[in-house]
Amino acid sequence: MPYCTSCGKEVQDGVNFCPHCGKPLQAQQPAPSRTVMPMDSEDLELHLIRQQAEKLSEAEKIMFYEQKKKSEAIGILLALFLLGGAGQIYAGKTLRGILCIIFSWLIIPWIYAIYDTYKSIRDYNTRLYMVILGSK
Ligand SMILES: [Zn+2]
Repeated sequence: MPYCTSCGKEVQDGVNFCPHCGKPLQAQQPAPSRTVMPMDSEDLELHLIRQQAEKLSEAEKIMFYEQKKKSEAIGILLALFLLGGAGQIYAGKTLRGILCIIFSWLIIPWIYAIYDTYKSIRDYNTRLYMVILGSK
């Protein structure tokens, strides 16, 4: 037997209004399923991570986050000593990374790629944290 959320008295199953106080009762609607198609590969990755994280306990979520997050240090080392775009590809910005590799001889795209790698990894980790630990 459910209870009225407004006055707290017992009400019959399936009624739309409370017979005691007249307030409309919330219908028990099933939660809408998340079937939104992700737009890019990073969204798809985070979408899959969200699905995995939903089954985990709080302690497991923290470990999962630590395991999935990307390292700014690795990204910057790749961007500095390999090619700028390599850092961006590591950060999940594949297309931008390829463009920066093609134009890295112009130096400016290389410098931009180092900055963008750092920023992209920070953004990614923030979103990852929200997806894994901020979902509840
Ligand atoms: Zn009521």
